[in-house]
Amino acid sequence: MKRYYFVFCKDSLMLQPTGDDTYTIPLCEEPPTEIKPWTTMLNVTPLDGVEVKAYEISEPTATALEAFPLRQCYYKLPEALYLKAGKCAELLYWHRNTKYCGVCGGQMHFHTDISKRCEMCGKEVWPQLATAVIVLIRRGDDEILMARGRNFKSDHYGLIAGFVETGETLEEAVRREVMEETGLTIHNIRYFDSQPWPYPSGLMVGFTADYAGGTLHVQREELKKAGWFHRSNLPKLPEKLSIARRLIDAWLTEAPR
Ligand SMILES: [Zn+2]
Repeated sequence: MKRYYFVFCKDSLMLQPTGDDTYTIPLCEEPPTEIKPWTTMLNVTPLDGVEVKAYEISEPTATALEAFPLRQCYYKLPEALYLKAGKCAELLYWHRNTKYCGVCGGQMHFHTDISKRCEMCGKEVWPQLATAVIVLIRRGDDEILMARGRNFKSDHYGLIAGFVETGETLEEAVRREVMEETGLTIHNIRYFDSQPWPYPSGLMVGFTADYAGGTLHVQREELKKAGWFHRSNLPKLPEKLSIARRLIDAWLTEAPR
């Protein structure tokens, strides 16, 4: 029986070339690389009825596979395979980080495919998600707020975003992040879409909102720069992989109100 094998090496995924700069996930009866006695083979939910396995290797062994950082795989794989790769990466990250029990230090063992149990005290753990909100803020018909985060690696601008805190609704998190990072108030907060963000285990929840009041004060610990940008004069946009880009693209294609 053929299975998909998602093989990770450090932060990269091993892809099988199919010619013409296109790639796929190895679909085969046996693992496409050597399996060591200590390798953990994870069972992941099937994709279109095909079993899915995920495991890690320490070195890219001499195979026909090529290693690509997971982010780049978005541009190389069909979307369903990229999303499954993200899930596999999150499960492997969770597995690496839950070897021992946080209560008593005992060894954790798989109880189901997505839970582990401590052999000493019986504590159970499941993969945890870090939820973040991101918001496109409009001012009038033609302007949005864009910002450059301190941690941005390229010179693009993005949208205001941040992690949801405990005890907070998503809308409260949106309002708080916008106030903390820019000093602005907003209204008409509307859900847009969400996106798994396996870097390493997040969920991005996208919103749109309208500017309500306040003067822009950039919080320097988080942001380098922020400003209002007209639709005819936008800075370098985030990459297509991100929900930030989808929020901006959706706004750009909206007819001016
Ligand atoms: Zn324990």
